Amino acid sequence: MHNPFDLSGKAAVVTGANTGIGQAIALALAAAGADLACVGRTPADDTVEAARRMGRKAVIIAADLSTIEPVQRIVDETLAAFGRLDILVNNAGIIRRADAVDFSEADWDAVIDTNLKSAFFLCQAAARHMIAQSQGKIINIASMLTFQGGIRVPSYTASKSGIGGLTKLLANEWAGKGINVNAIAPGYIATNNTAALQADEARNKAIVDRIPAGRWGEPGDLGGAAVFLASDAARYVQGHILAVDGGWLAR
Ligand code: NDP
Repeated sequence: MHNPFDLSGKAAVVTGANTGIGQAIALALAAAGADLACVGRTPADDTVEAARRMGRKAVIIAADLSTIEPVQRIVDETLAAFGRLDILVNNAGIIRRADAVDFSEADWDAVIDTNLKSAFFLCQAAARHMIAQSQGKIINIASMLTFQGGIRVPSYTASKSGIGGLTKLLANEWAGKGINVNAIAPGYIATNNTAALQADEARNKAIVDRIPAGRWGEPGDLGGAAVFLASDAARYVQGHILAVDGGWLAR
């Protein structure tokens, strides 16, 4: 019987695949059968080696997504490596913290450009190819701050609510062209990005006490959602933002 979660023969682009959530998603896609183009500033050597040990093809594409300059090259290099591009995961992201009243233009632009602008233009570059082949899956990494306001992270909240709206718009425009556009909204996941929060005993306790599952998420907790949204099993799922948050939003 056909396994609807099988990604054998598919080629996936994952941004920020060297660490954290991006690495875990990349390896989950590889475990399900996909070949990997690992995009980022820091070479994803460990991710590539692990994927190759699984018998997948995997390449590194060096790119700084603080500008949209590399987006077309990412698509071109993926097609050169694998002859196809089936799955795009827009995961690369940064955060800057300051009170809204003091927030700088530099911290606004850095976060919006990386988290939102590059993500959109990479969707666009990938979709031009996916529309031509009449199939493709795009997964954008959102956040709890796609749904909530947060505090002291104005550009991050704007970028992640923007990702939510954009995911729905792109699903509206491209669902009829064979592309599924969806998002995953991680809750509190233990990565480098959240190391300072984990290290702060009082804040860490307040966070864990509020999570119904009673613990931080691990990057690997995102893998199943990514494989699902990248697979034929999700062929009628469009514009959805799938929270993987240990129940945070349910509270
Ligand atoms: P990490 O800081 O561990 O990883 C971020 C990734 O993004 C790294 O691979 C990093 O590469 C890459 N990246 C950042 N800036 C750029 C850039 N200019 N060009 C290319 N790559 C870049 O964070 P997480 O794994 O925690 O976060 C991954 C995604 O998940 C982000 O979009 C984040 O907003 C989102 N998220 C995370 C949550 C959490 O609790 N951890 C919660 C909700 C959402 P490099 O190592 O080279 O900097």
